[in-house]
Amino acid sequence: MSREVHKTIRLNDYRKPDFLIETVNLEFDLDETRTRVKSLLTVVCNHDRCEGIHAFVLNGRDLALKTVKLDGHDLRHQDYVIDSSSLTIPQVPDRFALEIETEINPRDNTELSGLYLSGGNFCTQCEAEGFRKMTYYPDRPDVMARFFTTIVADKRKYPVLLSNGNLMSSGDLKDGKHFAKWHDPFPKPAYLFALVAGNLDRIRDSFTTMSGKKVDLSIFVQHHNRDKCAHAMESLKLAMKWDEETYGREYDLDTFMIVAVDDFNMGAMENKGLNVFNSKYVLAKPETATDADYQGIMGVVGHEYFHNWSGDRITCRDWFQLSLKEGFTVFRDQHFMEDMTSRGVKRISDVNILRTHQFREDASPMAHPVRPESYVEINNFYTLTVYNKGAEVIRMMRTILGPEGFRRGTDLYFSRHDGQAVTTDDFVQAMEDATGTDLRQFKLWYSQAGTPELTVTRRYDPRTKTLELSFRQTCPPTPGQEEKKPMHIPVAIGLLGQDGHDMPLRTAGATEASTPARGTGRTGGVETRVVQIKKPLEKFVFSDIPQEPVPSILRHFSAPAKVKLDLSDNERLFLMAHDSDEFNRWDAGQQLAVKLILQLIRDFQLGKKLRVDSSFMSAFNKILGSSMDDKAFQAFALSLPAETYLADFMEVIDPAAIHEARRSLQRALAMELRDTFIAVYYTNQDAGPYRVDQASIGRRSLKNTCLSYLMELDEPGIRRLCWEQFRTAGNMTDVMASLANLANTDCPERPQALSEFYETWKDDPLVMDKWLSIQALSPLPHTLDTVQALMKNPVFNIKNPNKIRSLIGAFSTNSVRFHEPNGDGYAFVADQVLAIDPMNPQIAARLASAFTLWKRYDKNRQKLMKEQLERILHTPKLSKDVHEIMSKSLA
Ligand SMILES: [Zn+2]
Repeated sequence: MSREVHKTIRLNDYRKPDFLIETVNLEFDLDETRTRVKSLLTVVCNHDRCEGIHAFVLNGRDLALKTVKLDGHDLRHQDYVIDSSSLTIPQVPDRFALEIETEINPRDNTELSGLYLSGGNFCTQCEAEGFRKMTYYPDRPDVMARFFTTIVADKRKYPVLLSNGNLMSSGDLKDGKHFAKWHDPFPKPAYLFALVAGNLDRIRDSFTTMSGKKVDLSIFVQHHNRDKCAHAMESLKLAMKWDEETYGREYDLDTFMIVAVDDFNMGAMENKGLNVFNSKYVLAKPETATDADYQGIMGVVGHEYFHNWSGDRITCRDWFQLSLKEGFTVFRDQHFMEDMTSRGVKRISDVNILRTHQFREDASPMAHPVRPESYVEINNFYTLTVYNKGAEVIRMMRTILGPEGFRRGTDLYFSRHDGQAVTTDDFVQAMEDATGTDLRQFKLWYSQAGTPELTVTRRYDPRTKTLELSFRQTCPPTPGQEEKKPMHIPVAIGLLGQDGHDMPLRTAGATEASTPARGTGRTGGVETRVVQIKKPLEKFVFSDIPQEPVPSILRHFSAPAKVKLDLSDNERLFLMAHDSDEFNRWDAGQQLAVKLILQLIRDFQLGKKLRVDSSFMSAFNKILGSSMDDKAFQAFALSLPAETYLADFMEVIDPAAIHEARRSLQRALAMELRDTFIAVYYTNQDAGPYRVDQASIGRRSLKNTCLSYLMELDEPGIRRLCWEQFRTAGNMTDVMASLANLANTDCPERPQALSEFYETWKDDPLVMDKWLSIQALSPLPHTLDTVQALMKNPVFNIKNPNKIRSLIGAFSTNSVRFHEPNGDGYAFVADQVLAIDPMNPQIAARLASAFTLWKRYDKNRQKLMKEQLERILHTPKLSKDVHEIMSKSLA
């Protein structure tokens, strides 16, 4: 039974739809357990002739079918075929009206896909395949239709009734019911449909577009959250303005609405004109949200808003093209946030995510190209590869074409394909046509999986004053792709002279960087050049180089690749001090720290005493003591590489050794530089009220980085300092920083802080998510017991995805305790995967992916993880979501 073969869907099998839908008239009569959905479709044949050749197949799942009428006539049972996933009508004319009535049970919908209840309110999530859980429909993104939606509900319980588009009419009905009729004038696929009904408060504002049209803006939340919407509203207006200025995109409906719900599988959803959000990405006030939350909200509000053009007006032809909308829109939100915050710091944090998590995905059995070739369950492909690597692919195109060329390309893309469902090939074609650039080889980034590696060698000739840089590119095999073709990789390069300044670069075959490095005071010369690597081995010669330079390669992380370059420690220290490219200045320090920690790991494994290199110590001290303008950058530069990133450099991952080695370095730095840490901590205290501007965020980040080093000292005085911050801080950023430090330390203040925090915030679910997470992430030995006990706490709810992610999900990323050599951590997470799967397979599959890298660990852990993988795989009635992840992991 568990070996049941689930159907694999393949890109090569794509066929255009046999029928198109012109209009959809939906009527929802809402009821918690018995909602009636009436759907009237006008259907037309999509071939020269359909009659008698093509059957009309509609998708549907978990539906009670009441009636089907074709052109007004009831169909009898023998006129159609129904199974667990579809309704087929074998005989249809070339044009007809189809009326279907179904009944559904929103209260029992624990998958949170389709129509369900959250906090007593109705809401929907239709991407990717949730619409078919409300009515039978050709539920595929290339069927775009105009929607009319009528919602009927009890007026007292559900005073607010929302759907896509513009409100046409509303009014009272008998029996205490009322109705609202919505019309969306833009054709859209069913996955962009949305409906919300509930008792919600409304926060209003407006935005005047560049052509002078006034748009009503609304955020709908539960009444007690009214005071937490100002930042989301401000973010929305900034995003609307930015998209006009940067891409020339104007909003198109009279109204734009955001609804916040507590039970949501993802971050947010870009339904046309009616974005539904996980409340985590809407609600914020200084006492309850951290700086990271504030930035997350601005990024996600921007992301969903930008989808109005990159996703809604132009959508995906099929789900293999998911990166068409997601890669492009993630790039747009990253760029938006670079403009709203700090370009270098935002880039560092985005690359951190990519290198620590997407590179892992590329190295796992789940590795897949940005445009996958096949899937069993599409929900398993909402991945960092499709989203974040997809965004890097767009960024590289912008680097290759330059900002003006790229803008000409997006202008052409938006005008050529408005109202269509298209492919990533169509996107690239628009870039090529607008600029006359050949991107055929570049398109391998969409079809070839894995992280390319660039090995760089250099030869300086003092006689001819030339520097030769050669680049050899390789890409490791990934499932189904043993042999890789050479990619087109744009590499941004700078050369630093002995004075620490960029040298002017002259070479054949390189173009000026689209994103020049920060000004170095030089005039005339171009300091950053982009070279295009296309062959397995490429050489570039730079002329007029008076002295041997220190190369700065892959500036601003110009391609999602790994670079191997034989820089000496001194050269890295030099880059750390002088590189005009913020990303590489930061990365030089990271790579030094990686090398040092890897040495410490070897010492740890051999039982040797850990010793820290003095040149690293002094470089670190220089950064700590300097008064940089950008404190957020300074904080990043003082942070050691994450344990997960370090694991990437080990043949066999040893989570305990990584943790110990990293912490010992942290402790050594704290001991050596104790007084400087304390001084910097005090200098960066915030005076006055909480503000979320860049300078204040930077100061808090630097101060709290110092605090976490100091807490390694295990001194009662420092613990009191931390406790003081916990007690007196007026904002959640500082409270959380101190609480997390206490939660990681076995000290008397720990239980007291955790229980005070709980008593203060137990009625705020988003704050409780933080409380659960920091306990699940603690490296202390009893963490698993704590997590198990917390599952019984009333604030935890196994049906709520945020709670699962905060507690169980967080624990599965706790590299020490999840990977405990006795296997208890593995057994616990596997138990939860099995408990969650029958309720919410999407969330269960996410959790199950904690096991995918099992082959990278030692023999004992491999065996223990494999046991759990097999136990999950052999469980009867496993969802295809979890089944796909488990079977691919074991393959
Ligand atoms: Zn998106």
